[in-house]
Amino acid sequence: MTGFLRFSRLLGKGLCLSVIVLGMLPAIRSPRVQADRFQARRKHLLVRRVIDGDTILLLNGKLVRYIGIDAPEIDHCNGVAEAYAFEARRLNCRLIGNGGVFLEQDHQRHDRYGRLLAYVYNDEGLMINASLLQAGLAYLFPHRCNLRYYKLLLGRQQEAMDAKKGIWKFWSEPTGITYIGNLKSGRFHLPGCPMGKRVAPANRCMLRSAWDAFYRGLSPCRLCQPPMAVCKQQGRPGSRNMPRPPPVHSGKAGRPCIPNGNSK
Ligand SMILES: [Zn+2]
Repeated sequence: MTGFLRFSRLLGKGLCLSVIVLGMLPAIRSPRVQADRFQARRKHLLVRRVIDGDTILLLNGKLVRYIGIDAPEIDHCNGVAEAYAFEARRLNCRLIGNGGVFLEQDHQRHDRYGRLLAYVYNDEGLMINASLLQAGLAYLFPHRCNLRYYKLLLGRQQEAMDAKKGIWKFWSEPTGITYIGNLKSGRFHLPGCPMGKRVAPANRCMLRSAWDAFYRGLSPCRLCQPPMAVCKQQGRPGSRNMPRPPPVHSGKAGRPCIPNGNSK
């Protein structure tokens, strides 16, 4: 990870310096912060609906995508959810509680779909991004311009992997594959992937398993899709036609978030 981290430091010193000067540098280094201090600096936002484990819809109509994680998809191919997708949404819903969140953004503020990119904190100052990783209900998915809490998030994922929680519990993957890791982009590739072949030698590392790649903080290439999807389909099957959870907040203060109790 040395090259990857070095790259992030360069970004912090150069490209993103102007953003830091504008006051984006966080005062906190832990997922749990002093709630009063944190809340005093940020606007409290109400959540209309929890879409899945890494996306929420705010009452103001804006979608928020959690930085640094990738939760199993509920609306996956053929309407079949990936394993642990409903557990991830349920935990997300439970942590949000009565529908209030605080957002902290990094250098890149929106993704290509126009969604806000944020570290999302509940009323108690708990960073939900980190909690989902710690529960094994999301994968670390770093983006090179949003690495403020990369080491913290990686640590949470490693904790879940060591404890074999959630998606790591029934982990199984094909053997005999050597993956190509890119320490600069933070992605790993199947041996035949054209993007993997273009990785500069200085940034390349060879990995004997997808597990090792995840443990080192790399995430799967979107193009060649290393066996992450296979692993998700093993252990626990996906579910079809699960009901949507109730709205978290309809605009009236104090309405509780009710996790979907049938989502198994
Ligand atoms: Zn690839």
